[in-house]
Amino acid sequence: MSRESVMASNGQPPPSREAAAVVGCLRSHSTFVMCAHEKPDGDVLGSGYALGLALKALGKRVIYFLDDEVPKNLRFMPEWHLSQRTFDGVPDDAIFVFFDMSDQSRAGSALQWVPGERIVDIDHHLGNKRFGHWNYVAESEAATGSLVLHLITALGVEITPDISTCLLATLVSDTGCFQYSNASPHTMRLGAALVEAGANKDLIIEQLYYTRSLGGQKVLGRALETAELTGDGICYSVVTQGLLEEFGATHEDLEDVVGALRVVEQCEVAALFKETPAGDFRLSMRSRGRFNVMQIARALGGGGHFRAAGATVRGPIQSAIATVLKAVRDEMARETRARKA
Ligand code: 5GP
Ligand code: MN
Repeated sequence: MSRESVMASNGQPPPSREAAAVVGCLRSHSTFVMCAHEKPDGDVLGSGYALGLALKALGKRVIYFLDDEVPKNLRFMPEWHLSQRTFDGVPDDAIFVFFDMSDQSRAGSALQWVPGERIVDIDHHLGNKRFGHWNYVAESEAATGSLVLHLITALGVEITPDISTCLLATLVSDTGCFQYSNASPHTMRLGAALVEAGANKDLIIEQLYYTRSLGGQKVLGRALETAELTGDGICYSVVTQGLLEEFGATHEDLEDVVGALRVVEQCEVAALFKETPAGDFRLSMRSRGRFNVMQIARALGGGGHFRAAGATVRGPIQSAIATVLKAVRDEMARETRARKA
């Protein structure tokens, strides 16, 4: 590796004009609303709390808006208890910072009214729509938190242990604890720097990977028991509302299921259908690395990353499965044609 590439992987995302404009916005305004996507995860919440702490250190006012509850296993994060579900106290000149989403619709219905000219969009998804007036997007980064770390450093704010814990949680969350292919040397170095700055690594990993409800584990068992593997490498399973009720579990308890399908030998694409109370299905997909599940999700009206993506599909289940299998096979055929060409 050349000295330049070692330096690049050792540092932060390259300072860009986009980042500088966001820093300018953060410096010149006084009140910020941190906004999460639906079904919030460690990346979106950790990013919001970390930037929120940094802005408070600069004397700014920060509101954390969340149209959901904070998932139980993320209630170790500094600031989590300050998340609010209303816009109480939000002044007319507030700036809304949207984290970790490729378009505004991912923020859920409560945030659709926010006009683009008041939005900062910080994200690492493929195909981000640049829906803000200020957009800082780097698809190469493993987590949105890595962009936030760059912004906080550029603002000149000290990376405290609390900020480090929030940011390490973003990396641990989006890299499967540094296991996935997105965990580059650069990502690992950021992780090391955050541990050095005082991040509580053990607590984060214990909460994100080793704390599960018994009911959720039983649902995982049942989902594996009923999984199907097609001859062309699609491994899928269904979790119905009835199954969740049987074991007193919720969608929050299903984080590990699609990953457990993906490890099946011969599986190229794993798909989990999670029934919603309305009778539709939240679809989670994972790829072993050959097929781009983001393209499949996009064909179904969703999005995500190359190896992890999702969408919502209409029930009933048999038609949802047929729709998804067809979309997966279309992408498999497209990839196979492209490889031959
Ligand atoms: P998960 O399967 O863990 O819910 O989601 C995997 C990835 O796909 C995440 O990066 C998430 O942001 C993205 N994703 C999941 N569902 C949707 C969706 O409905 N729309 C979009 N645009 N992205 C999604
Ligand atoms: Mn993310």
